Amino acid sequence: MTGVIVVGSGVAGLATALHLARGGADVQLVTKAGMADGSTRHAQGGIAAALFPDDSVESHAADTLAAGAGLCDPAAVDVLVSEGPARVRELMDLGVAFDRDASGALARGLEAAHAHPRILHAGGDATGLAIEIALIAAALEAGVRLRERTLLAELLVEDGRVAGVELLADGRREVLRADAVVLATGGAGRLWARTTNPDVVTGDGIAAALRAGAAVVDLEFAQFHPTVLAEGAPFLVSEAVRGEGADLIDLDGRRFVLDDHPDGELAPRDVVARSIARRMAEQGGRPVLLDATRIGRRRLEARFPTIARALAGRGLDWAAHPIPVAPAAHYLMGGIATDLDGRTSLAGLLAVGECARTGVHGANRLASNSLLEGAVFAARAAAAILAGEVDAAPALPSAPGPESPSALAAVQTFSRAALQRLMWDHVGLLRDGAGLAHAVAVLAAWQDALPRPQTVAAHEDAGLVRVALAAASAALARPGSVGSHFRTDDASAHARELVSAGAAC
Ligand SMILES: Cc1cc2nc3c(=O)[nH]c(=O)nc-3n(C[C@H](O)[C@H](O)[C@H](O)COP(=O)(O)OP(=O)(O)OC[C@H]3O[C@@H](n4cnc5c(N)ncnc54)[C@H](O)[C@@H]3O)c2cc1C
Repeated sequence: MTGVIVVGSGVAGLATALHLARGGADVQLVTKAGMADGSTRHAQGGIAAALFPDDSVESHAADTLAAGAGLCDPAAVDVLVSEGPARVRELMDLGVAFDRDASGALARGLEAAHAHPRILHAGGDATGLAIEIALIAAALEAGVRLRERTLLAELLVEDGRVAGVELLADGRREVLRADAVVLATGGAGRLWARTTNPDVVTGDGIAAALRAGAAVVDLEFAQFHPTVLAEGAPFLVSEAVRGEGADLIDLDGRRFVLDDHPDGELAPRDVVARSIARRMAEQGGRPVLLDATRIGRRRLEARFPTIARALAGRGLDWAAHPIPVAPAAHYLMGGIATDLDGRTSLAGLLAVGECARTGVHGANRLASNSLLEGAVFAARAAAAILAGEVDAAPALPSAPGPESPSALAAVQTFSRAALQRLMWDHVGLLRDGAGLAHAVAVLAAWQDALPRPQTVAAHEDAGLVRVALAAASAALARPGSVGSHFRTDDASAHARELVSAGAAC
């Protein structure tokens, strides 16, 4: 029987484990915190799929490719959109109760840069939670062995092949061998000071893959969500709220995004986020406002119960007043390079979900495509393992190694907060060469100085530094702006943005 270790219990890990167990594999899934701790359970807006007669996979593909700013892999996008509807139906069969309208038909939302409303949602704005619950139940029923509070510390590499994992649980190290290891450890939002991502999203799997020598690419592409509550801890206010008609206004009450893009609030995420950042700079750093008042209290509460509850808990009444919002790090487009079946450049190692770079997102992810990516590529990775096709590593693109740091010495002492501030200031929404070179120098010095990690937190810190250094180096190595990677020292970048916005009219 094929023995497989899956690391991570979000949509990607659980769906992979489920397919594997149903296919007869012996599957052990390890996860470093509680089973439902990860980004998946927080997903609000929903899952995109071309399921409706007025929509098509071609249209979904065109929107995905356009958002990716020319850097998507068209073959991966084709897989995503054409296999997506079947995977969404599979989720329904597992018991995910997507919302329905008064006639009983599937309800669907519209989000930025989608030509059609095609976002299915559950519990109003609790889609990820519904998917997470259904997948945990199905994985248990299928015989997946689930282990919580068990950290992947290292990949075991023997003769150029991944042969298992080194785990850390209850302070003890343990080696587990397997025929295949699947990384489904999520993104790395905790690299930045302000993020929508939960605590566990520290890029561990990407760091482990880097240490093992797997190809990791496109880390310069990180998506910053435009509308994250700017009062108290960052809390995402879904794009679907703008899809329902909310406006972004500045402190003078003006809809400023229209200056930057004719689609205004529903322009691609990176355009909206940068527009907000510029407006915030002009108004002394103060957040802009999301005005959802015209949607009406009844609709806001029915469609967005989770957000409504969170706002009410902070004493904000969004049906009556605009709420303060600002961008925050949200999603990592880059990651461990894979082929269309989740295989990485190391035999025996696969990657699925946000930690993987399949090529579907290019330089910018289309809203609500990531839950879908997790579900679609999980099924393909499981099929490749079950077919015994993981012993040869495919040829995959690789990124240049980290830049040699300049002569600058790191003066700051390492702390996670200092790293997150450094990334926010210099490897954030807007970057330039000088800031990136400074970040590379500091991160390289921290990487050299950190001791061998012994605890869970120390493992996370070491991983954060390694992924941060790779991301800053990748950003420094790409002088031009594209998609989410915006260099303020690329003089023509803003002009190009305005010209292409005009062309889109
Ligand atoms: C607030 C929010 C809203 C979002 N809304 C949407 C949306 O509406 N639609 C959409 O498509 N996408 C949305 N996204 C993005 C989407 O939720 C994620 O990209 C997706 O859920 C990632 O799934 P995953 O399985 O790859 O990772 P995750 O769900 O993040 O799971 C990662 C798992 O790996 C585990 N792990 C990490 N490191 C280790 C380690 N070293 N050892 C063991 N286990 C480890 C974690 O504990 C966790 O279980 C949203 C994200 C956030 C944060």
